[in-house]
Amino acid sequence: MPKSMHILIVGGGTAGWLSAAFLAKTLSTSDNKQIKISLIESPEIGIIGVGEGSFPSIRGTLAAIGISEARFIRDCHATFKQGIQFRDWVHTPTAPTASTSSTLSSKNYYFHPFSQPSQRTGMPELLPYWLHGLAGKDRAFADAVTMQTYLAESGRAPKRSTDKDFLGPMNYAYHFDAGRFANLLAEHARSLGVQHLLGNVDAVQLAESGAIASLHSQEHGQIQADLYIDCTGFRARLIGEALGSPFHRVNDVLFVDRALAVQVPYPQEQSPIPSFTISTAQQAGWIWDIGLQQRRGIGYVYSSRHTDANEAEQVLRRYVGNSMGDLQPRQLQFELGYRPTQWIHNCVAIGLSGGFLEPLESSGIGLIETAAYLLSYLFPYNGEFAPVAKTFNHLMAQRYERIVEFIKLHYCLSQRSDSAFWCDNTAAASIPASLRDKLSMWQGRPPSRLDFITDLEMYPPSSWQYVLYGMEFKTQLPANLIRADEIKAAQEEFRNIEKMRDFAANDLPDHHQLIAQICAR
Ligand code: FAD
Repeated sequence: MPKSMHILIVGGGTAGWLSAAFLAKTLSTSDNKQIKISLIESPEIGIIGVGEGSFPSIRGTLAAIGISEARFIRDCHATFKQGIQFRDWVHTPTAPTASTSSTLSSKNYYFHPFSQPSQRTGMPELLPYWLHGLAGKDRAFADAVTMQTYLAESGRAPKRSTDKDFLGPMNYAYHFDAGRFANLLAEHARSLGVQHLLGNVDAVQLAESGAIASLHSQEHGQIQADLYIDCTGFRARLIGEALGSPFHRVNDVLFVDRALAVQVPYPQEQSPIPSFTISTAQQAGWIWDIGLQQRRGIGYVYSSRHTDANEAEQVLRRYVGNSMGDLQPRQLQFELGYRPTQWIHNCVAIGLSGGFLEPLESSGIGLIETAAYLLSYLFPYNGEFAPVAKTFNHLMAQRYERIVEFIKLHYCLSQRSDSAFWCDNTAAASIPASLRDKLSMWQGRPPSRLDFITDLEMYPPSSWQYVLYGMEFKTQLPANLIRADEIKAAQEEFRNIEKMRDFAANDLPDHHQLIAQICAR
């Protein structure tokens, strides 16, 4: 059994620094084994610098690596994220939606909140009773079963200033500045003992076994390690270029492959900041709109098979309106997919080098968190990499596959037929067979936890339910799912949620004010 181990991370974006901090904090040295962690990043190649929306798992990760909530919010210009508001995804809008438009057709938007549907001990699960119409005819699922939709849309924060770090009455994640987040993680990882090298890896030497023997950079010469973590982003310098791990494209299912991103200042200091991401569907993709403390991050993610860069820029300009001024959007190009084999011999891919499945539900950073957690949990202290690699690859590939299905769910249920993009997205041939099976089952009964294998899912069953019924999916409710003796209790709970939300709105602070308070501490 080796007495010491050197882990070399290549790449200093969110994936590299988050992995570095997580491993530095969580790997055990209790058996006197020395674990040295170094990170080398190119001084020439920048980080991708997008990725401003997160998933609630980020709170556990920040707590695990030892960054306080206040420091994170201050340093990363972060705001709270209570979910995603989807506009124009279900039906074709009557007129193009500008971000300034204040009148939202209630029929054409829905909310995916992070809080689970209410389920008090001894109470029935509310979904079948909602499907039965007991919450009121026009009450949306996400509005009927949790207060969060109402609270977020009323400008309330998910927690009070007196609540403990990372805890609050509502479930939440954050929006943040991606560049600042990488800097904070870097500073923190260095304080945990991670060695930082600036250098461009220009060659990878392989041993006879096919494992990586060493890396080379002009600045540092030959560098050897026991385990190499490829965090080089889309370049995939180690796992792809050097080791040739195949890339599984999913562009027959998910079509977007370009983004135009822009940072838009607020018109005035006190402009409201939504505590949710706004995602507005367009003719060939969708626009994200994320409110940070000092600016908005806005981007049009589109399919180059269905529109071109000029038209896409016009769509983005129309959305941003007057605030666009002379701002020039940044172009990003990507291929959606993942490597089914993310760990080969002594090399593991984490982040974009392992795969990317579009920003719609912020899976990018969530997958980095999962990979760092798995690597730490399964860590081969005894130097036997092969069985760990097999488990890691299996768990990660399954997770990617399920995320593909979850993202496709948003597109394939749309009733839009106003462009080739939407028609292609709803064509049966573009829907994975496994998702078609699920949808076919859910026509006859609602989704339940038995449809999901918790350890392989990034998104809980409630997320599937919020999207499914937000997209107006129809389920023929079987009679045996409703119990006559529980109807009263379910009705009471629906009323209770409605009654309590005004009380909760008084109890929770204004989102903008809470951010200001935290930053002033
Ligand atoms: P990068 O940030 O690209 O970092 C790569 C690093 O590798 C850099 O430091 C570079 O210098 C280094 N490097 C490269 N080659 C070498 C070499 N030869 N030698 C040394 N160093 C090298 N995720 C979310 O969770 N939420 C979102 O809202 C979201 N939005 C997105 C929007 C778009 C348009 C895109 C494209 C992605 C989005 N993502 C989002 C994904 C997210 O941006 C990434 O998962 C995250 O930033 C991690 O990137 P990374 O660290 O893998 O790569």
